[in-house]
Amino acid sequence: MGSKSDPGVIKKLDEVVVNRIAAGEVIQRPANALKEMLENSLDAKSNQITVTVKSGGLKMLQISDNGTGIRQEDLGIVAERFTTSKLRDFKDLSNIATYGFRGEALASISHVARLSILTKTRDSKCGYKAEYSDGKLLGTPKPMAANQGTTITVEDLFFNVPNRLAALRSGAEEFNKISEVMTRYAVHNSGVGFTLKKAGETGVTVKTQVNNSILDNIRLLYGPTVAKELIEFDFENERYKVKSKGYISNVNYSVKKMVFLLFINHRLVESSALKKSIEGVYASYLPKGMSPFVYLSLEIHPNNVDVNVHPTKHEVFFLNQDAIIEKFQSALEQKLLNSNASRTFYTERLLPETKISKLDIQISSSSDKPAIAAKDMIRTSSTDQKLDKFFTSTSSVQTSGTVLDSRNTPSEEKSGSGSKCSMPEMRECKLSSVRTLRKELQAESSNTGRDIFANHTFVGCVSRKLALFQHTTKLYLVNTTNFSQQLFTQILLRDFGNIGVMKLNPAPSLNTLAKLALDHPEAGWSPQDGDKQELADFVTTTLFQYREMLDDYFSLQMDYRDGVECLVGIPLLLDDYCPWLAGLPLFVLRLATEVDYQDEIECFRGFIRETARFYSVSSTEGARMDLAQHQDEKGEGDSDTSEEWRFTIEHVLYPAFKKFLMPSQSCLTDRSLLQIANLPDLYKVFERC
Ligand code: ADP
Ligand code: MG
Repeated sequence: MGSKSDPGVIKKLDEVVVNRIAAGEVIQRPANALKEMLENSLDAKSNQITVTVKSGGLKMLQISDNGTGIRQEDLGIVAERFTTSKLRDFKDLSNIATYGFRGEALASISHVARLSILTKTRDSKCGYKAEYSDGKLLGTPKPMAANQGTTITVEDLFFNVPNRLAALRSGAEEFNKISEVMTRYAVHNSGVGFTLKKAGETGVTVKTQVNNSILDNIRLLYGPTVAKELIEFDFENERYKVKSKGYISNVNYSVKKMVFLLFINHRLVESSALKKSIEGVYASYLPKGMSPFVYLSLEIHPNNVDVNVHPTKHEVFFLNQDAIIEKFQSALEQKLLNSNASRTFYTERLLPETKISKLDIQISSSSDKPAIAAKDMIRTSSTDQKLDKFFTSTSSVQTSGTVLDSRNTPSEEKSGSGSKCSMPEMRECKLSSVRTLRKELQAESSNTGRDIFANHTFVGCVSRKLALFQHTTKLYLVNTTNFSQQLFTQILLRDFGNIGVMKLNPAPSLNTLAKLALDHPEAGWSPQDGDKQELADFVTTTLFQYREMLDDYFSLQMDYRDGVECLVGIPLLLDDYCPWLAGLPLFVLRLATEVDYQDEIECFRGFIRETARFYSVSSTEGARMDLAQHQDEKGEGDSDTSEEWRFTIEHVLYPAFKKFLMPSQSCLTDRSLLQIANLPDLYKVFERC
């Protein structure tokens, strides 16, 4: 920039003013400046950061860290716009969005405040102090005694932007904002000790230790009441390249205003879409108007985040946001459904008997753990020694083994692209009837049962209806039919209004289905019930008049095909699971005759009951069907599809049971979960022999 006699003087003044205005937009209040400087200190690998403020940071805001420091030769340019030590090559530019803006924080601050930096690198003999104004170094850095690290002091913020200064009401309010930013960064950066204090006062507002855990920090900064109600919540989706870790409050805790700490790629941000979706999930668990505490650290592939480049706009958007939020929501819902159970599970794990379930890993590695008696040893891998192995025909075992390998566990990808024909936006269900049903279900569920299902090891199918699994040292005979019905009931309630569709092609006519059902002995039709055709017409009109509601809430789709009322889609309740379609006629008949459509809650209850019944693993019809199939296949010499149900039960249903089935309390007494052996007891028997 030219000498004093150049005609560019006016231009230069302009530039200063323009820069000042621009900087005032970037740094709107002390808390914005603090956030940028905290990130600089963290980038410089500090593990102690102390912030001292006067008048809410308006008079003074000082950040001291023990990081790498700034090299003496760089001090001349650090406060110039677009100077940064963090982008090295062109490739980095593609990731620029992750860090918001680059090389602007110190420059901006220097335009609207008095900025000084005292810094010392490890290799330098002494520290240097430099002062800046309008992006420029004033004079030369002065050598000075200092510890390794950097202390940045910002004084008289907005002394030259009176409008901005006037807009900030009080030091107290600014201090609250500062304290909020500090608190959040302190929680998130558990390996760093943070201190926030007011200059001249002895007390500290925020103080964390280097070796605190995230949970320690939450307890310290938000209080033990919330800390003890937190559950760990991790989420990952390969397809969208996101993962997140965090702590969320369980259903026993609530606050008036949601506390939401959100970090995306370690930067404190806001996402109202995500926030709303979380509140939506909690709404059905918490008292009306109450909110949870949620801390989330999300990592998204840098190419997929659009952190708004303006540092004061913390709102972020990311690629596939809706789809990611949908996946996130259902994971959260499951976590909450189980949260009561997991607390009990936690205490139950402390019981000596169940403790051993963890021991399989420790046997070889640790000597201070007590040795386990053979009777207490548990097989925990379901990949070896499944029931199938003990069947005599070795050749068939091999075939089925190969088949299992090639199919693997059902993947999310598959359902996303294939079987799910429509994927509605996740909607929050505000109907009180649905909430009541959800609460009823939760009240009826058994924590002990949940623990057993959550930690079982599948052994094998005895039949369609019965399977064996192991939990700790106990062997259980499990009624698959009964529990699959419970599972589908829970899914229908959980996903109410958000259920996927399985299209039927060709779509069967409702009338034909009804007539088929009436011909079936199980329908119990007798002449005094009336003419079959009239009954079938009744079924058709009854169901068809509710088609919008049934589609909207349950994805049961009906429509005209060539002028005839047809069933075009049924709910997709579980990926890779299709109900036994030969049961469709009876399902349709029962939907029309066994559901009370006049009363909202009874209608939902009845519809869910009938649907869950239809989707459950059918025992009688299934067995017959299976036999027929089996005979067919014998002819063709193909044993593949006859094993389909075994595969589905083992690889689709039981994993779903494990993940989120909340079994009813009655299952412990009605023999649907029947303990048939306990290893220690068997040993007692042998000892007597
Ligand atoms: P950016 O962080 O985007 O690079 P800034 O204006 O925030 O831009 O900082 C400019 C440069 O100053 C940084 O790249 C870094 O080299 C240096 N710097 C700022 N604060 C610190 C600090 N606390 N410790 C070490 N270096 C720092
Ligand atoms: Mg920075």
